[in-house]
Amino acid sequence: MTAYDDLTAHIAEYHDLLCILNTLKWDMRTMMPAAGAASRGRQLATLTTLAKSIFVSEETARLLDAAESEVASADSDSYRARALQQIRDAYEIHRRIPSDLVAQMAALGAESEAVWAKSRTENDFPSFKPYLSQMLALNIELAEAIGYEDHPFDALILQFEPGMTSARLQQIFAELKAGVLPLLERIVAVDQPLAIDLWEAEYDLAAQKKLCRELTALIGFDYERGRLDSAPHPFEISFTRDDVRITTRYDANYLPMSLFAALHEAGHGLYEQNIAPELTRTALTTDFLGQYAVGGASYGAHEFSSRLWENQIGRSRGFWRLHFNRLQRHFPEQFAGTDAESFYRAVNRVRPSLIRVEADEVTYNLHIMLRVEIEMALLEGAVSVDELPEIWNAKMQEYLGLTPPDDRRGVLQDVHWSFGGFGNFPTYTIGNIMAAQVLAAAHAQMPDLAAKLADGDYQALLTWLSENIYRHGRAYSPDELLTRVSGEELNTAPLLDYLEHKYSDLYGLR
Ligand code: ZN
Repeated sequence: MTAYDDLTAHIAEYHDLLCILNTLKWDMRTMMPAAGAASRGRQLATLTTLAKSIFVSEETARLLDAAESEVASADSDSYRARALQQIRDAYEIHRRIPSDLVAQMAALGAESEAVWAKSRTENDFPSFKPYLSQMLALNIELAEAIGYEDHPFDALILQFEPGMTSARLQQIFAELKAGVLPLLERIVAVDQPLAIDLWEAEYDLAAQKKLCRELTALIGFDYERGRLDSAPHPFEISFTRDDVRITTRYDANYLPMSLFAALHEAGHGLYEQNIAPELTRTALTTDFLGQYAVGGASYGAHEFSSRLWENQIGRSRGFWRLHFNRLQRHFPEQFAGTDAESFYRAVNRVRPSLIRVEADEVTYNLHIMLRVEIEMALLEGAVSVDELPEIWNAKMQEYLGLTPPDDRRGVLQDVHWSFGGFGNFPTYTIGNIMAAQVLAAAHAQMPDLAAKLADGDYQALLTWLSENIYRHGRAYSPDELLTRVSGEELNTAPLLDYLEHKYSDLYGLR
């Protein structure tokens, strides 16, 4: 056994614990009776502490030192060198975070999330305010512990998105605003809503489930190594590439809810299922810093895959031209009077709205920018928690031309801040940008890709994505992956082109 092998075996144990934690989380969000929450919370805390003590240990330090002196620096681009670098970086960051602070955040997070849920229901921001203030203070402490050069946000986003900084994000946001705001203005000016009267009908849940399974299998989700369940907040979670769980949620009157959530989560699942088998239980599938044990390059990179399959494939005209007959087969009465084109238009309606998770492709990133700008201002101390509802509503008016009628549909709508998830929101927008960039690169490299997709052959795209991106797990950063496939780091132009092209056509803009 070499020192590297010893270290790998040690990390594999840590990896196993993270997968077991994920199993408990999956069960908690899909199957567990509500009364189990308190004891499940203690189980998760015990296991998290155990996992952290295995990673932040003398043994890790000793094995890491030995392995580093063994692996030659000439080897710097190999998976071995990449794995060592990841372990070293994560180890140094973990060591800087006091275990006290982690415990405090976990304890406050559980309580704060419960208070938030109640405040949201009752539209009562003042009750949530003291918890949010404490959570903000702990996040500022966390940022100071991790360390940063320019902005505390840089330390927090590091947990989810290596290589991203607040300065870079501000540049990205400026580019997106310059493209999206004028496009939105032109769309809104068209006095011709694309909605059709499809969502008055009722859609049997068992039939919806069959349809979700069919569509996700069609794009390549492997049910030999995965399963689909329902959950109030859809998510994907994996316990290695051989056991990947996806979820969706069903609304008896609104069919797109289950279909697009299933495609989205299957897009996450495809990433995990197609990581190279030899990376299983290694540092290159271990999420040392994040909260969900993601096996891909970053949270944004993971979101690229879900958005690509949900939106660029699943909301395309070609997809519904081919598969609309499946809707008609499952729901013959409901879809008797309509056609593929009308359905395509209905599920791509653009409309400024109050709620992020219901936003269309054009307005979605505006919701993210608003949140990230507010997070940055909070961390800087430029804005206080007291002023939040007012700042939120002003930004909604500025970007979307709407003022929330209450805080429930405004500043209280998302769970993230309640449990302390500062720094996570940008990953959604990074995913959207990456999805457009990667799909453009795939088309450039495979001239017959459009024809294959038009025939319903999704395997060619899946194979290309697997070879170029998925299989590498966490070996390369998002920028490195993008440079390999497109010759450029993260770039907003392909997303803006995609939106301009698709929605000019849909809304007849010239
Ligand atoms: Zn997602």
